[in-house]
Amino acid sequence: MKDSFEENIQFIKGVGPKKAARLKRLNIETVQEMLYHFPRDYDDRRNTKKVSHLVAGEKVTIYGRIIEEPQISKIRKGLSLTKVKMRDDTGSVSVIFFNQPFLKKNLTMGTEVMVNGKVKVGYKGLEITNPVYERVESANSEAQVIPIYSTTEGLTQKEIYRMQKQLLSTIKEFPEFLPEEIIKKNRLCDLRFALCGIHFPKTTQDLKVAKYRLVFDEFFLLNLSLLSIKKQFKKQKSSIALHIKDDVYEFIQGLPFRLTSAQRKTLDEIFDDIQRTTPMNRLVQGDVGSGKTIVAVCALLNCVLNGYQGAMMAPTEILAEQHYEALKELLSPLNIEVGLLVGSMTKKNKERLLERIAKGEVQIVTGTHALIQEGVVFHNLALAVTDEQHRFGVRQRASLMNKGANPHILVMTATPIPRTLALIVYGDLDISTIDELPPGRKSIKTFSASKKKREDVYTFIKKELDNGRQAYVVCPLVEESESIEAESATEIATLFSHTIFKSYRVGLLHGKMPSKEKETVMNAFKRKEIDILVSTTVIEVGVNVPNATVMIIENAERFGLAQLHQLRGRVGRGDSQSYCILIHNSKSDIAKERMKIMEKTTDGFLISEKDLELRGPGEFFGIRQHGLPELKIANLFKHIKILKIVQQQIKELIEVDFEGFLKEHPALEKKLINQLRKIDDEIPYS
Ligand code: ADP
Ligand code: MG
Repeated sequence: MKDSFEENIQFIKGVGPKKAARLKRLNIETVQEMLYHFPRDYDDRRNTKKVSHLVAGEKVTIYGRIIEEPQISKIRKGLSLTKVKMRDDTGSVSVIFFNQPFLKKNLTMGTEVMVNGKVKVGYKGLEITNPVYERVESANSEAQVIPIYSTTEGLTQKEIYRMQKQLLSTIKEFPEFLPEEIIKKNRLCDLRFALCGIHFPKTTQDLKVAKYRLVFDEFFLLNLSLLSIKKQFKKQKSSIALHIKDDVYEFIQGLPFRLTSAQRKTLDEIFDDIQRTTPMNRLVQGDVGSGKTIVAVCALLNCVLNGYQGAMMAPTEILAEQHYEALKELLSPLNIEVGLLVGSMTKKNKERLLERIAKGEVQIVTGTHALIQEGVVFHNLALAVTDEQHRFGVRQRASLMNKGANPHILVMTATPIPRTLALIVYGDLDISTIDELPPGRKSIKTFSASKKKREDVYTFIKKELDNGRQAYVVCPLVEESESIEAESATEIATLFSHTIFKSYRVGLLHGKMPSKEKETVMNAFKRKEIDILVSTTVIEVGVNVPNATVMIIENAERFGLAQLHQLRGRVGRGDSQSYCILIHNSKSDIAKERMKIMEKTTDGFLISEKDLELRGPGEFFGIRQHGLPELKIANLFKHIKILKIVQQQIKELIEVDFEGFLKEHPALEKKLINQLRKIDDEIPYS
């Protein structure tokens, strides 16, 4: 028999094809998905009050009788008020509804009603405006906590409420998937209690207990999925074991700088991995400017010295191009062939390059995700590096792995994230951290300035330019629209070059430009043929021009902390003092708080903690971006304690013998397989 949790919602009493189609818009197709459509909020109607005890500002439930016929008044076009008067045994109060003239028929004199809403001070004493109401004959006799659901067109709160009620009262079995010992150890309630409690909590305590269990479940399954992915990666046996060549150390000796000890430690960890036949799957986490590239270069060089190919993938063409240039400069003297593969190449050039890659003539290939597309065949790929990993999901990494015979994988990110979060987002990876900047770096001085101060800012830029430095101006992110962004960048660049910065060379860079043009501009900036580069956020990741010392960010309040930090990281890459000026125009406290944090610290880890705190994890550069399903109820910030408990227990009970554990708990195994399928479906491709 089919598990009733898996049953199609359409066949449940009272649903049918029409409502099922609407539910589908909420991603609800099965009974289980319906039950896991949790209330987004609750309406607590337990605070019942007598009219004589009402206090302005409180949200209350009162019971009483309508004592006058409702009166409708049209205030203006689109706004009508329906006013009724109700009383209980202690006094009377006005109740006002907006735009619901039909209530005149429902709330006639003498009707017994329950009203739930906020008490306000009106013209003639206290009143309750726009409350929820129910006629008492249909109202639940007990005041209670009512769930509020997200809904969709053609489907009312009440309908969802009723469906949930009906489901929960008819389902006989709630298939438990958590192992007994875990339930016991954590004193979790059972699944029935949890689901009933989350939808229709009788007490605050019930709700707490239910929520705890569901949050636990969500973290548990997510962490288990990641563990499973990690084990799968590890199991793919046949990576190529590479030798560590002395020439690499010679190369390091020959660099114009000495590696920091954090860089050396990271490189050791990488070298440790790639000597094995189990594929490396390592994340290098390091703040902007910490020198991740050179670490990757050493690893790639070692790979080539072993006679194999390496690849380095970046999220944008500008970055790919930059890596290409850097690699060529460093490795051409050693007679290593480096290639660049990007989407915008001419067909002919691409074909030629693909051929040379397939023959193994190109030893290191840099590129965008064009690299993981079909048609790219490597001769003998042994190491694949992806830069700025937060733009790539789990699946992209996987498709890179499938190129050639399971290459070792190295991913690099400049977005440091809090440790616990890292375990979730990168749960399938081993992590190295470069927690040290190269010596001699001056920390970037950051100031925020209101728009009124813009003239001063321009004067300051000129001073820096006159000293032979260069500047970035990142333009207002007006809307989430690339073309509008491009437009405003274009406008500012034009304005600059005709007025304030007439005697300087102004460049323009935005995502809508053809890549050839982008490349030209970027190269000109690097060669110091451009003094001020006006750009959109395309320069966000990884761009390296050490002579640029000023970063101006317009409308800084519109960026999150992590992004501001990334943008700021484009300066401070050389020996001279660099500056970041945040021009903002916001009076909101959060925006001010953000500016203050940016002024105070350049520590990426601290900034990311604050970012998480201020924005809330929902927005925190989406888990989804990493190819993981969105959390429904668990909150990475609020529930961090539960997350730690879950991770600890998985470590103690499960990690040692993962497969054995799953064999012993088939219900859990089944649940996990379903979850993994979901992860696979939700992974974004670009
Ligand atoms: P990121 O970690 O942000 O990718 P990069 O790899 O682009 O940083 O390095 C930033 C700059 O620091 C580059 O110009 C690079 O040559 C330089 N650099 C890297 N390592 C060191 C070091 N140990 N000492 C001095 N400069 C270094
Ligand atoms: Mg980088």
